[in-house]
Amino acid sequence: MSGFVFSEKPIEIVEGDGAFVTDSNGTEYLDMGASYACVPLGHGHEAVQDAITDQLSRVTYVQASYPVEIRTKLYKLLAETAPKTVDKVWLCNSGTEANEAALKFARSATGNSKIISTKRGFHGRTMGALATTWKNKYKKPYEPLIGDVEFVAYDDAEEMAAAIDDDTAAVIVEPVQGEGGINPARKEFLQRVRVETATSGAALIFDEVQTGMGRTGTLWASEWADVVPDMITSAKGLGNGLPVGATLCRDWIADNYGSHASTFSGGPVISAAAHATVSTIVDEEIPQHAADMGEYMMSEIEAAAEEHDLGVRDVRGNGLMVGVEVKKGANRVLRDLAMNHQILALPAGRTVVRFLPPLTIDKTHVDRVVDALTEALD
Ligand SMILES: *Cc1c(COP(=O)(O)O)cnc(C)c1O
Repeated sequence: MSGFVFSEKPIEIVEGDGAFVTDSNGTEYLDMGASYACVPLGHGHEAVQDAITDQLSRVTYVQASYPVEIRTKLYKLLAETAPKTVDKVWLCNSGTEANEAALKFARSATGNSKIISTKRGFHGRTMGALATTWKNKYKKPYEPLIGDVEFVAYDDAEEMAAAIDDDTAAVIVEPVQGEGGINPARKEFLQRVRVETATSGAALIFDEVQTGMGRTGTLWASEWADVVPDMITSAKGLGNGLPVGATLCRDWIADNYGSHASTFSGGPVISAAAHATVSTIVDEEIPQHAADMGEYMMSEIEAAAEEHDLGVRDVRGNGLMVGVEVKKGANRVLRDLAMNHQILALPAGRTVVRFLPPLTIDKTHVDRVVDALTEALD
């Protein structure tokens, strides 16, 4: 197993600062992937660094059963900034754990077992979350996974409505599919899922591991969709690089969650990182900035694609979750961007180049990306 991005020329990163990382040869790269949306405030953000080092000097770890000041503050902040009534918080260390908890809570609170997920959905790689992930390649070597999972077409309200029944424990869905190719759902789809799950008594889980933390232009994509789900899961950007995840729940879930725990849940240092990250994103109105930059970026790419006939099939996304579907194949373009333009981005399947930059980027960063992309595709 190896973690190299480009096997022929690994980029060994030694430093990060804002939207840039530097490798061991001293080459500086514009980090337009933010290592899978994990640094929404950019690398080495001062408020987050200060919060972490301050907490390290106080106490590094206390078991979850003792209240710790910083964790209590984080609970309160997440409750205040989540959609109203989705204000009970369970903390963990990753996205898959946040979803694992959500699936367990849904089964416990409803007494049902059937889980509905979506084709091309991605929800993580532990046994439960993996069972709700679409791609066979990730699942096959580990079967049998948990049973009773049904997949329906993404953004297809009729198919979803037909699948939801009285035996359904949960529907788990990304408001914008990330790994599956940057596929935004229509509001009407998400709203219909809300109505159907409420009618049947199933729990609606929004997997906001990638879409949350302001990425799509609102702190939570559920705000944009005008939907209040029963649970929201978060991770990736939540600690601006530290491993923290959260499952936000409504009362009826939290009151019947069963018995679930994790030793490192809500440790003081990751709580400090998450508290500083969320409060900075909210106080500095980062989501609105992400919306503006995303709109600018997509329109600039579309304009360049048209002007230079770049073989771009589609430009799509919400906020700074941007996918560019290219005829050429994503990997060739990504290699060109990295090697010839010092820009790091990500694939989303074979044909989509995915950008999940720090939400703090400005127009000069976007312009550089558009110029590089134009050259790479021309
Ligand atoms: C990355 C991701 C996960 C899994 O998170 P990990 O921290 O890698 O376990 C789950 N859901 C979505 C939508 C993701 O993008």
